[in-house]
Amino acid sequence: MARFVSMDNSYVRQLPEFCVVSQPMSVSQPRLLQFNDSLADELGWSESDANRLGRIFSGQEMLPEMQPVAQAYAGHQFGNFVPQLGDGRALLLGEVIDVNGQRRDIALKGSGPTAFSRGGDGKAAVGPVLREYLVGEAMHALGIPTTRALAAVATGDSVMRMNRLPGAMLTRVAASHIRIGTFQYFAARGRFDLVRKLADYTIHRHDSELVEHPNRYLLLLQNVIQRQAALVAKWMLAGFIHGVMNTDNMTISGETIDYGPCAFMESYHPGTVFSSIDTGGRYAYGNQPAIAHWNLARFAETLLPLINEEDPQSAIEPATAELEKFGQLYQQHWLGGALTKLGLSPELVRQDDQVEALVIDWFDLLERNQVDLTLAWRRLADAVGGNEAKLSALFHSKEEVDPWLQRWRRWLPDSPLTEIAEQMRNVNPVYIARNHLVEEALTAASDQADLGPFCELLDRVRNPFVEQPDQQRFAEPASNEFNRCYRTFCGT
Ligand code: AMP
Ligand code: MG
Repeated sequence: MARFVSMDNSYVRQLPEFCVVSQPMSVSQPRLLQFNDSLADELGWSESDANRLGRIFSGQEMLPEMQPVAQAYAGHQFGNFVPQLGDGRALLLGEVIDVNGQRRDIALKGSGPTAFSRGGDGKAAVGPVLREYLVGEAMHALGIPTTRALAAVATGDSVMRMNRLPGAMLTRVAASHIRIGTFQYFAARGRFDLVRKLADYTIHRHDSELVEHPNRYLLLLQNVIQRQAALVAKWMLAGFIHGVMNTDNMTISGETIDYGPCAFMESYHPGTVFSSIDTGGRYAYGNQPAIAHWNLARFAETLLPLINEEDPQSAIEPATAELEKFGQLYQQHWLGGALTKLGLSPELVRQDDQVEALVIDWFDLLERNQVDLTLAWRRLADAVGGNEAKLSALFHSKEEVDPWLQRWRRWLPDSPLTEIAEQMRNVNPVYIARNHLVEEALTAASDQADLGPFCELLDRVRNPFVEQPDQQRFAEPASNEFNRCYRTFCGT
């Protein structure tokens, strides 16, 4: 019988206070839409019968080791604290030890109401499920830490949103689903004995080198700060806008989670917002580092009584000192990443602080000329060898970019130009999950049950660095008209 290589339930066993045992809803006609074979290989999953996969990943067939639970968490949503959120439309099925020995959560999303649904229906529609699938794969291919989809299954039932939509479930694989909001849940209730239990579990799972360390809670904070600084720097360089960076959507593992109203920015502008509910622009592209920092401060607050049990007040100083390092850590990751994308050595920062001005001026140029962020880097790689026409064409005029190009060339290393161009193409994607292409693919899947465009786009974003001459349309930005009106919605 097919089974996961090794399935476990450490979360429900060790943290029963943090979840509620729950069952997936029954669905009328589960049908496998997508299965992630390469992720399945990583997990050591061997079943390939589509019917059976459809039943398992719609929660209609439980494997012996699966124990579905809805996880409890709180969270700051748009700055306002909500003491009880929790999995209102998701269930953790259990954990798998993957082929590399890593523990990974397997969870359903869209699996029906739970004790945390707060009046919601617990369901998900085909479009948003495939959106999370696609964007997660795109992020993974770009080397950005992320939760990933293992399967998408149509339920055969409909979901009521603005219209009646075909329903679906997503199977999400994560290093864990522990969020800042998970810590906030019992911190808000003053149950620091349980926060400590969660912190010990988390350390065991994500930072096992700290298990015996006398300062382990402060060091957990330090590690989470480091992971988030690295993550958000990667988002920023890729032009990724998460859209709903509430504290319940920020993981302790450092993986991107919850692809709701997310989108990739096209023409570079730090104020870009796509989410229909983010009317104040709190989660605008350019605010993401500051918001991550704010969220981490909320995390630190939950740890104060653990850092110093006798006198939590005196933990404020060391915790604040860690938080203050965020800006510099973020800047290091961002600048190092930007230099690599420019074909330059990240080591240059240490040798010459003028190089930072080069990077900042590049972004200023992109903003002034409203240049597509992805194409700008990519065409810069093409320009290394002297073919500057495609790059210049992105700017208002050749004269705009020429002086900067001359400066940049002086910094390039002493290697053959073809080598530099090749290295740059390996870090500057030509294909991202462009909003108009994503919408086109999801509309076909949802309205006409046609997965063709989805599969085609998935293929492109899974190989983002290899340009295919006959696939030019996947590299092109949307029309200005599309971008002006484009809004994204929550509600996977
Ligand atoms: P999200 O915006 O996806 O991060 O979700 C925020 C909170 O709302 C979480 O507690 C979700 O479980 C809950 N939620 C969102 N949509 C639904 C739904 N359709 N039914 C029940 N709960 C939901
Ligand atoms: Mg969420």
